[in-house]
Amino acid sequence: MSEFEFGFETNAIRNQLERTQYLEHSVPLYLTSSFVFEDAEDMRASFAEEKERNIYSRFSNPNTSELVQKICQMEGAEDGFAFATGMAAVYSTFAALLNSGDHIVSAGSVFGSTHTLFTKYFPKWNITTSYFDVNKPETIESFIQPNTKILYAESPTNPAVDIIDLEVLSTLAKKHNLILIIDNCFATPYLQKPIHFGADLVIHSATKLIDGQGRVLGGITVGKADLIREIYLFSRNTGPALSPFNAWVLSKSLETLAVRVEKHCENALKVADFLENNPNVLSVKYPLLKSHPQYEVAKKQMKLGGNVVAFEVKGGIEAGRSFLNNIKLCSLSANLGDTRTIVTHPASTTHSKLTVEERLAVSITDGLVRVSVGLETVQDIINDLDQALTK
Ligand SMILES: *Cc1c(COP(=O)(O)O)cnc(C)c1O
Repeated sequence: MSEFEFGFETNAIRNQLERTQYLEHSVPLYLTSSFVFEDAEDMRASFAEEKERNIYSRFSNPNTSELVQKICQMEGAEDGFAFATGMAAVYSTFAALLNSGDHIVSAGSVFGSTHTLFTKYFPKWNITTSYFDVNKPETIESFIQPNTKILYAESPTNPAVDIIDLEVLSTLAKKHNLILIIDNCFATPYLQKPIHFGADLVIHSATKLIDGQGRVLGGITVGKADLIREIYLFSRNTGPALSPFNAWVLSKSLETLAVRVEKHCENALKVADFLENNPNVLSVKYPLLKSHPQYEVAKKQMKLGGNVVAFEVKGGIEAGRSFLNNIKLCSLSANLGDTRTIVTHPASTTHSKLTVEERLAVSITDGLVRVSVGLETVQDIINDLDQALTK
């Protein structure tokens, strides 16, 4: 069958481990911490990496290898490594590639724990970070120093759903010889392939849309083989590996990624349209609404708009809190990318420790609500948001 170029869905479903002697149709779960050797020579050659084979599940396991191979295929990446969580992927990727004295240029609006890692922990090892405003891409170059090694961003951003032009980042990275790393969690490889636009590495929290059902945590980094080699060696010794069970769950989830994400996006666009016409809403941000400041960039680099909609309720912090209190069907939860619709109010929760100025610098206004639109009947989601906005 190799003369055919298969489509995204076919690869997601058919790309799987070889069958065992039992001829199972669905890939089995390899819950084993280690693997056995034939003899002393086999063992020697395996440890010397003269053979590609599994030794110990902290290094590799058939289930994690299947997951890595599938995501590499989807992202157009050479190689990858799977982690226990998205944050393990972020931390291990940076820790493997950076030395004391190195500098990161990062988008200001990045995932909260990533921001904490850069500002609180990396300075302990003399690794510093400068942040650029995602809505002022023309200023990025001014933050690059002689010791800058990595350029980092997420697009769309969390929670304000801003969009960054990946080609602009890639041009800068090439000009200054930086490693461009993109957290592609909000888009998934179904909607956006950063490597196609010039990224060197792509990180995912698989906990979100890749699992898609709020069950397991996971993370992955894919990209250039020489960089992944460094990340692999670091991780093989430090132990952030994904469990085979979670890898098995996540690999199964990838079989339905395309249909799920397609429907998430269809529902999200309808929710965004509803919100844009609601009198209690000041503004709405969704990549594929014409009113989005980066609508043209979103259309260029994303297949559809994703499942997260941000909007501003009239009345600031109190209105945001009251909106959450009146929600009936949707969940108040810290996750996103679940089948269940989730609403959060960053100013009073995840970002409440920041000052108003710090929040505004990352596009978080007092009345900002983030909706991770799920797969329920879309009219039921809209009805719930509507009644909570009216109260
Ligand atoms: C959730 C998330 C992470 C962290 O992933 P975990 O699996 O929760 O550790 C990193 N980046 C983004 C954009 C996320 O949404």
